[in-house]
Amino acid sequence: MNADKSAPPIGSPPPWDVLALSVQQSPFLVVITNEEGHLQYCNESYCRTSGYILEELLGTANLLDHVLTLTAGEQWQGDVLSLRKDRSEYWVRQIVSPLCDAEGRITHLVSLGQDITHSKVRMEDAEQALLLREQALVSSSNGIMITRSDENDHSIVYVNPAFERITGYSANEVIGREGRFLVRDDLAQPDLEEIRVALREKREGQALLRNYRKDGTQFWNELHIAPVKDSSGLATTHFVSVINDVSERVNYQKELEYQATHDSLTGLANRNLLNDRITQAIAWANRQKLTVGVMLLDLDHFKLVNDASGHGAGDQMLKQVAQRLSSCIRDTDTVARLGGDEFVIVLTDLPETGDVDLIAEKVLGSLARPFDIDGQDVFVTASVGISMYPRDGDHGEILLRYADMAMYRVKEHGRNSVRQFMPEMGVTAISRMNMEGSMRRGLERGEFKLHYQPKIELATQRIVGVEALVRWQHPQIGLIHPIEFIPLAEESGLILPLGEWVLAEACRQQVAWKDQGLDGLRVAINMSPRQFRQEDLAERVAAVFAQTGADPACVTLELTESMVMQDVNSTLVALRTLKNLGLTISLDDFGTGYSSLSYLRRFPIDELKIDKSFINDIHENADDAAIASAIIAMAISLGLGVVAEGVERKEQAELLMKMGCPQVQGYYFGRPMDAAAFASCLREQRVGRV
Ligand code: C2E
Ligand code: CA
Ligand code: CA
Repeated sequence: MNADKSAPPIGSPPPWDVLALSVQQSPFLVVITNEEGHLQYCNESYCRTSGYILEELLGTANLLDHVLTLTAGEQWQGDVLSLRKDRSEYWVRQIVSPLCDAEGRITHLVSLGQDITHSKVRMEDAEQALLLREQALVSSSNGIMITRSDENDHSIVYVNPAFERITGYSANEVIGREGRFLVRDDLAQPDLEEIRVALREKREGQALLRNYRKDGTQFWNELHIAPVKDSSGLATTHFVSVINDVSERVNYQKELEYQATHDSLTGLANRNLLNDRITQAIAWANRQKLTVGVMLLDLDHFKLVNDASGHGAGDQMLKQVAQRLSSCIRDTDTVARLGGDEFVIVLTDLPETGDVDLIAEKVLGSLARPFDIDGQDVFVTASVGISMYPRDGDHGEILLRYADMAMYRVKEHGRNSVRQFMPEMGVTAISRMNMEGSMRRGLERGEFKLHYQPKIELATQRIVGVEALVRWQHPQIGLIHPIEFIPLAEESGLILPLGEWVLAEACRQQVAWKDQGLDGLRVAINMSPRQFRQEDLAERVAAVFAQTGADPACVTLELTESMVMQDVNSTLVALRTLKNLGLTISLDDFGTGYSSLSYLRRFPIDELKIDKSFINDIHENADDAAIASAIIAMAISLGLGVVAEGVERKEQAELLMKMGCPQVQGYYFGRPMDAAAFASCLREQRVGRV
């Protein structure tokens, strides 16, 4: 309000009391002071706002000092922080102007004010918040980047100092560029897709990305992006990206992971990683109908290197071996070190089983060159065992164990060579070491038992005989098949007590069935080579007959071709002595050896069992059918009985019947079963499905 002493009254002024009242009741805070700033008047609004009554304020200094210097015609305006009577603060937006008398002398100062406390506080909060945010952006240790979020404009509009520090790029260098430039051409990152989708869908997103600094070095960016909406809250105008350099953490994790999966000496995969890789390889091979080869390699006489030249030399050698092995294989294959001087190579994607032998030869070849250990040429060879998926098993642990067994065979037979696993090498879950003791104890504790598989006379479709097949009911492992322990029993000599037990048990069972009225059943018992070579075999068999009361006419001994062919003269003697006891002799697995039928004529043999491998394909392979048919015809012409083994299908049985094969045995007619199950089968004659 400008004070103007010469201003003429406009229109007719209202009466003085009206003027006074309008000041008194004005919503503005009106204060009139003398020229020294001491209050002489304040209106009701002022009293209400300040909490004082007029009498308390009269004469108090009420204005800021500098307004006292106002000259006529001047005015001051500003926001003033004041105190209420109750000491609380309030803001007044004030306009102060001097009031002059007729001579133009300043007599008073008039202050018009408005309580702006509410909007002032709000404003301050907002300003403060903005300031804080700016400060947060600037001082954040995370890189922050703000980009546009237009359909075709994702350019950077802001980066904070931390961004500059982390990436090495200054703000000037990056503003205007597209945000994704930090990834460079490293686009094969699965997490990138998450960010792309989040940007497209205008939502938050998080990813762990490999980013690149200005100097080309890589860092791990744990990126978090969030959309920024316009004031309507509907449209996304920008994205804020928070860049977290977590390289240290990620690298540490990777280091830990690496240590947990790699051999520290050679840097090759360790056992953990190996198991993973085999599992992956099997899964892949299963889908692609391919083969996996597991090659276990053990250096021969490595201990000598260690003993002769010390552990340092041994370590050098292992490292060099690791390098050579790695150079023999493709990137997709794995070389691992199991510890000591044992290595494993996993070969994936093999189309043929035979290929693995070629690779094994290549591996042995690569080790044949001398190793340079402290300037000296040192030579080493290796023994390699191989197992294959799916041929030998479908589990890493089993394949490794089988490869180990095959390798062990190589060690036994002169080392520096390769062998593939064969089932007869296997002993499920029992290590070679404790096998013998386990079996011996098993025998004492009665863990062995017999299963019985029927032999069928095709013409009558009746069970005429039975083959006793031994099983080991191991207390921890469960049922173990003979293929897994007979070869070792044979090697260790345990086959002798075991074979004798089988003989006695089968005889005892035969008598028991006879007593139950199941008469006339011929029981076949398998003989092992070692058993057969016993000088006193006939006496032992006779003793068992006497002891069990078995009828020799109802007992058949099954021998294999190779057993019979070993030493013709002594075999002849042995067979005659056995036959004198009244039992019959069957030639098992016929066709797998080298004997000719005419040669066999010299031996006192009663029956031939045609090996499973000839029966397998007779219904679809004309050559196999012709061979089987010839064996049957010739055997009959020689007056021998014939049994076809491994009959699994109706077509095979029908064909064998047409060929005139008298007897058959196989899963189609009955699997090996325990004595009780066999007895009820026999009672009902629940076979004969042809
Ligand atoms: P093997 O004497 O040739 O016995 C026949 C084998 O073929 C048995 O295996 C039997 O279960 C199996 N088999 C029978 N029918 C079929 C069929 O239709 N398809 C197929 N794929 N297989 C069939 P098992 O019981 O595992 O015996 C394996 C071998 O262990 C025997 O072969 C025999 O050489 C030996 N063995 C078994 N018991 C004894 C024993 O008490 N003493 C000795 N020394 N060896 C035994
Ligand atoms: Ca047999
Ligand atoms: Ca057989």
